[in-house]
Amino acid sequence: MKYCIKCDLFKTFAMFYKNKGKKEGLQPFCKICSAAGLREWRRNNTKKVQLQNRRNYLNRPAARKEFERLRYWGKRVDLYNLNLELKALKKEIKNAK
Ligand SMILES: [Zn+2]
Repeated sequence: MKYCIKCDLFKTFAMFYKNKGKKEGLQPFCKICSAAGLREWRRNNTKKVQLQNRRNYLNRPAARKEFERLRYWGKRVDLYNLNLELKALKKEIKNAK
């Protein structure tokens, strides 16, 4: 059994995610609290979530196909701009709160 610092309860080890950085090899809070924490984080980081969604959108298969199509037709300017946008997004995600 392990104590969850967030919900103040003892739970089985199976209720905790692994974390190699920690002494016990487990997160200090249970899976339920982790999920709640993630929801909370999303609420507080809407800008970052938005940027990540945009990045995922550009990385999705259909968008990749568009990338390939542009490359095929030699529209390098469009491709270049898309790549620039992706790069800028990555930077923004890094710097966003
Ligand atoms: Zn908990």
